[in-house]
Amino acid sequence: LKLTDGRKIRIDSRVVKIGDVFIALKGTRVDGNDFIDDALKRGAIFGVSNRSSDNPAVFFHPDPKKLLIEAAAFILKHSKIKHKIAITGSNGKTTTKEILASILSDYGKVFKTPGNLNTEIGIPIAILENRSQLAECDYAIFEFGTSKKGDISFLTDLVNPDIAVLLNVGTAHRGNFNDETELLQEKCSIFETLQKDSTAITNGDDKRIRSMISELSCKKLFFGQRNGDLKIMKFDYSKNNTFVAFKAFGEMKMAKLKGIWNSGQLLDFGAAYLTALSLKIEEPLLNINRIILPFNNRFSVENIAGIILINDCYNSSLESVESAIKSIAKLKKERTFAVVGSILEQGKYSKKTHEELGRLLNFFDHIVLYTKDTQVEAVQNTANIDFKSSNPEEVAEWLKKNCRYGDLVYFKASRGVALEEAILSFRRRLQSGE
Ligand code: ADP
Repeated sequence: LKLTDGRKIRIDSRVVKIGDVFIALKGTRVDGNDFIDDALKRGAIFGVSNRSSDNPAVFFHPDPKKLLIEAAAFILKHSKIKHKIAITGSNGKTTTKEILASILSDYGKVFKTPGNLNTEIGIPIAILENRSQLAECDYAIFEFGTSKKGDISFLTDLVNPDIAVLLNVGTAHRGNFNDETELLQEKCSIFETLQKDSTAITNGDDKRIRSMISELSCKKLFFGQRNGDLKIMKFDYSKNNTFVAFKAFGEMKMAKLKGIWNSGQLLDFGAAYLTALSLKIEEPLLNINRIILPFNNRFSVENIAGIILINDCYNSSLESVESAIKSIAKLKKERTFAVVGSILEQGKYSKKTHEELGRLLNFFDHIVLYTKDTQVEAVQNTANIDFKSSNPEEVAEWLKKNCRYGDLVYFKASRGVALEEAILSFRRRLQSGE
């Protein structure tokens, strides 16, 4: 594949721009091979398809997906990366990746998989698109996502990391797996290619993970709140800062982090810090103060017209709600409101998940349901709600009428629910005094 640097690889013809490369993949619903002409019309410099064509811009390959993956594997094999670090877990992958990248950037050249390119297709694309950066980087950080059995195993084989980080095994996306053991095994497969001199870093508070990896011959390091080589001991907020006390290999340390970090994000910080220590970086603390959370609607706290607004709509899971509540409990506020939408990809667990969500939400003084996706209605089995609507304007209107100076409003839903529409509308009303 003749790819010059900076060229984008597209698998969706609708987003092709002039100069991009189009690779036709066969999905479950659509076959990219039907769209090769469309991609070329939109300016693709060439396309790869499993159908031969007279057009010289169409390269034939019997299996374009295989080609994509093999090309990525070839690039990795021929790069001189000193350390390949893979990160997975139900919650906090992106956060940990960003913190770690920020720490390591003071000690060498860092590559990180961009945005949410964390799948069996996204990661090969990220590798191909950034191959010269990869070729000369000291640290390459890969975020591994999983939505079905075998995804992590596939990515682990492709990347062959020397440090593998499993943050946690929670309930996110559990509907895509047969049972909890399958989900646990899936996440733990990030460790399966580690050699004796490699390192597994994981959550020391989770007995299931500890027992699952007890046989591994590689080095093992743990972080957690109760157990670990690195323990998060205490945290608190003052002004717009988070103060965290933690113990690393028996030594007490303190960090002042900019912004409001929730308890889950502090565990991510612990995991990233421990990873840096495992790379023989002795005092990463100094470099951490410039990391500013949140990233993009992941527990972002703002004060508008005296009302504290927390936008946590990038994604949702029971564990991330729990971690948010632990932090909200420590913030200074009058009354608390939760505006919640569905937690998606729960499959047969959906009712159970939303009933559990209701139990957690009882922490709040008032609960509003955003019912654009109706699974969230099951919250009402375990919690009393104040209002519900599938219309973002109605939700914003209700909030504007009922919230007053000093109150805190927490917004939470899975990405697919697009709860930010309600936030935008509420923010607009607060700012304009409508
Ligand atoms: P991911 O990349 O795994 O989806 P993100 O870093 O994007 O995770 O964070 C998604 C959500 O999870 C945010 O609401 C964030 O506050 C929360 N979160 C982050 N880390 C943790 C953690 N370790 N435990 C629980 N919740 C977390």
